[in-house]
Amino acid sequence: MNVRDSEHIIAELNQKEPYELTDNLKDADLIIINTCSVREKPVAKLFSEIGVFNKHKKKSAKIGVAGCTASHLGKEIIKRAPVVDFVLGARNVSKITEVIDKKHAVEINTDFDESTYAFGEYRSNTFKAMVNISIGCDKSCTFCIVPATRGDEISIPSALIVQEITKAVANGAKEVMLLGQNVNHYGRRFSGMDEIDNFTQLLQKISQIEGLERIRFTSPHPLHMDDAFLEEFASNPKICKQIHVPLQSGSTRVLQQMKRGYTKENFINRCEKIRTLCPQATISTDIIVGFPGESEIDFEDTMEVLEKVRFEQMFSFKYSPRPHTEAAAFEDQIDDALAGERLTKLQTRHTEILDEIMDAQMGKIHKVYFDELKPNGRISGRSDDGKLFFVKGSEELLGCIVDIKVTKTSRGALEGVLV
Ligand code: SAH
Repeated sequence: MNVRDSEHIIAELNQKEPYELTDNLKDADLIIINTCSVREKPVAKLFSEIGVFNKHKKKSAKIGVAGCTASHLGKEIIKRAPVVDFVLGARNVSKITEVIDKKHAVEINTDFDESTYAFGEYRSNTFKAMVNISIGCDKSCTFCIVPATRGDEISIPSALIVQEITKAVANGAKEVMLLGQNVNHYGRRFSGMDEIDNFTQLLQKISQIEGLERIRFTSPHPLHMDDAFLEEFASNPKICKQIHVPLQSGSTRVLQQMKRGYTKENFINRCEKIRTLCPQATISTDIIVGFPGESEIDFEDTMEVLEKVRFEQMFSFKYSPRPHTEAAAFEDQIDDALAGERLTKLQTRHTEILDEIMDAQMGKIHKVYFDELKPNGRISGRSDDGKLFFVKGSEELLGCIVDIKVTKTSRGALEGVLV
């Protein structure tokens, strides 16, 4: 989502202002740092980055801070780093052309409705298009800062989504990645009228777009994975068989404290349903360890879900207390060293599972969509189920979906040859 926000910023500046992209910091007239704030680490990094940019940039170059950290720190950023010229919140991307010329402008209104805003056209990769289907988040997960930085959830009208995808397909994209904080909650609130009222219907409508061959989405919420949605996922040939099911914790008690709305058993049931309906699908997840009050037994529940589901991909984090969240005020915060031990245990076990999964890929054939040239005569792409492939090849393969046989496996990627 942040990458797409950056593309929108670039598109607006390309079209409405005399700016173009540069790789060279010394050439830059404008430096924009787009930020995340889900964990504390990126926030600390922001201020060190501002210092580095300030030291090496052209004297006249402006620095702007955009994204979620901009939303929640606002003018505090300029107070701490007066070299910053403007602050632009995650929900105010369309105001970029207004803030660049106002010294110390701060635009961070989370009530602002960007859901029907037509951004200029810019894509860092023309083969794959990212398209937002909603903005904001209506959940109240006690650990998460996102609702405070991105505001209430509003669905983008389906006609706009279809229009944007159709344009991207005409420009060479065969694949779309639909973006939203809870994509399968689509349709609950529109800024205007819309004939579509759920994500399953949206998927059906998008899959009718001619020339579009692959549909991905991130992230769905386990609570809204009803049977109709999972059946659409399994049976629609355009939907890639890779699904993110963010667990957060395997303990029902912790899940309640997190206000996630599902239990350990509901979660396992949804994953089993995916495995039954669609055995070839890969399941990825997000896990937080060391949430306030997490006991050894709670953590063992998380380990148990890992054993049961055997996630093909796992993003795991130590709990990080965030401002504007309920859990930051919980009394039973977990010792950092203990959380670190648990994270290591979880990741070590997942690595073993992942090695088994990847080793079993040897000799298998996948349909790979090639989208990026790499050094040394190689080209990269992804299989339908989301595995990263590197293959010897050149431009002719770019934008093609080709059968590839796996000849070498590793934890992060596969190598193969054309069959
Ligand atoms: N709406 C998305 C969440 C986006 S944030 C979803 O529900 O999947 C991405 C991930 O960051 C979350 O899934 C969570 O695992 C992690 N995260 C969010 N807040 C966090 C915190 N305070 N500490 C540690 N990890 C956190």
